[in-house]
Amino acid sequence: MPELPDVETFKSYLDATSLHQRIVDIDVLSADLLKGISGRELGRQLKGRRFECSSRHGKHLFVRTDGNIWLRLHFGMTGSLRYFKGENKAPRHTRMLFVFVKDYRLAFDDQRKFGEIGLIQDVDEFRKKRALGPDALDVDLTKFKKLLGKHRDAVKAILMNQRLIAGIGNIYADEILFRARVHPATQISALKEKAVAKLFRATRYILKKAIEAKADADRMPRSWLLPHRGKGGKCPRCGRKLKSATIGGRTAWFCSHCQARCTLA
Ligand SMILES: [Zn+2]
Repeated sequence: MPELPDVETFKSYLDATSLHQRIVDIDVLSADLLKGISGRELGRQLKGRRFECSSRHGKHLFVRTDGNIWLRLHFGMTGSLRYFKGENKAPRHTRMLFVFVKDYRLAFDDQRKFGEIGLIQDVDEFRKKRALGPDALDVDLTKFKKLLGKHRDAVKAILMNQRLIAGIGNIYADEILFRARVHPATQISALKEKAVAKLFRATRYILKKAIEAKADADRMPRSWLLPHRGKGGKCPRCGRKLKSATIGGRTAWFCSHCQARCTLA
């Protein structure tokens, strides 16, 4: 499921391929991804326009057009972008196609169709409407402490709560907690100040490194949890079998030896 590092990678990809070209056609293959707009209206608004620049907030990508309107993309569970030339090279689960001049195309591919595509006038307004917290890479330690301190929940559920901090999902929350050596079910209030600071540093480190690796699991260090998570996986630190549990509605993978579960003093 695309999280902050994946969406940042899509952003770089879109910036490198799809800006400043005239959009000559839009093909909506799956209208159920459209939010608050019909395919016809979306086509009317974007045809003849160009994408000028893009901006990311949490797991959302916003692409500004020269018509002062923003295309917004959310990648759901399986969304991704692909740029190519020629009609018959579209990826298998293409849900929307932007056709540029000279037959270049940008596809929004999404097998499971949980993605979202829409048009908005104002990014800040959209963020407010969705009650999205600040982007995970825009938060400093003081802010991080303040955001976390106000809540009572398992630390993993807090990290994944988009209204507190936007961008972290199931995979990277596990990775951050593994690096910080914190058990995912730990109550946030049980973490001492030093542990919160460690969690903050782990958050920045993991997200930045994952962006450098282009969110590709094969390029991530073997010392990370990601290459090992899943049934039968072993902790890259101590070699013991990894455990899983449902926390915050999602499956957490962790090492119960390396990740201590703090209890309230
Ligand atoms: Zn371990």
